[in-house]
Amino acid sequence: MIPAAFDYARPSSLDEALRLLHDREGEAKVLAGGYSLIPLLRYRLAQPGLLVDIGNLDDLAYVREAGGQLQIGARTTHHQLEQSDLVQRSGLWSDAAGGIGDPQVRNWGTLGGSVAHADPSSDWPAVLLASRASVVVRDLKRERVIPAREFFLDTFVTAIEPTEILTEIRVPLPPPGTGGAYAKTERKAGDFATAAAAVQVTVDAGGAITAAGVALSAVSETPFVVVAAEAALLGAHASPELESSVRRAAAEGCNPTRDGHGPVDYKRAMAGEMAVRALRRALARAGA
Ligand SMILES: Cc1cc2nc3c(=O)[nH]c(=O)nc-3n(C[C@H](O)[C@H](O)[C@H](O)COP(=O)(O)OP(=O)(O)OC[C@H]3O[C@@H](n4cnc5c(N)ncnc54)[C@H](O)[C@@H]3O)c2cc1C
Repeated sequence: MIPAAFDYARPSSLDEALRLLHDREGEAKVLAGGYSLIPLLRYRLAQPGLLVDIGNLDDLAYVREAGGQLQIGARTTHHQLEQSDLVQRSGLWSDAAGGIGDPQVRNWGTLGGSVAHADPSSDWPAVLLASRASVVVRDLKRERVIPAREFFLDTFVTAIEPTEILTEIRVPLPPPGTGGAYAKTERKAGDFATAAAAVQVTVDAGGAITAAGVALSAVSETPFVVVAAEAALLGAHASPELESSVRRAAAEGCNPTRDGHGPVDYKRAMAGEMAVRALRRALARAGA
């Protein structure tokens, strides 16, 4: 289908972009890589009156360390993340970056676009949840820093207001003894996940887990934290019993629907399996 008519602007500064969103509140939409939005326009599932293309805002594309955080600009592409030495230091983030779509998707799609779009099957939201990241958004008047765990409200619904632009993702730099991993199963290479798990753990010198983040993608209405798995991990040591607890918590905690990716029971089993695979790799990377 051909998209409905819309106005188009390509501002050269963040302030100009924010002014456009403010002046056309409710009818303007941000365009980043376009890899989720353009298909919606073509199917007329989205019919914005104005597209605010942030493709010129190069100062929103960066990866840096500052203030004890990894800070990533919203316009950073999946490919730039995959290539970043700073991102490579996190097993969790580098696992996820390399497994998104195909090279074309990774070259165009952005971290900010993926997080703002909040597709329950996309990969970054679970990574943000497990690594306890924050999402920075701005409008003309103020900046808000929203914990990822309060950001994903429903399917394709986030805490971003229509006049706000997502500018940055902030990830706390984990202490020594931390490891993370992302495990994903998909129907074919380059596809969205059938089930995926993000795990980050910190272990002390005796091998006890002192901090844990566990989140799942593609098996519920939203990406979500597996609270029961995190509780089981805290204070525990690696063991087959611990793996069973995490597997059960993931499988029972999700709420998948039957679709082209498979039936409900299969998806539950895969949620448990992905959680255990990510846990094993995360513990190995943590030195446990
Ligand atoms: C064939 C294919 C395969 C894919 N496979 C995967 C996959 O395996 N895993 C995965 O996670 N994703 C996958 N994707 C999605 C891809 O990662 C997209 O890049 C991502 O979902 C959206 O990023 P974008 O930059 O293209 O955003 P856009 O499509 O430009 O925007 C998406 C939405 O976010 C809003 N938005 C964008 N940027 C901002 C911002 N800075 N502030 C506020 N709002 C903003 C837009 O208004 C729009 O509503 C795939 C896409 C395709 C087409």
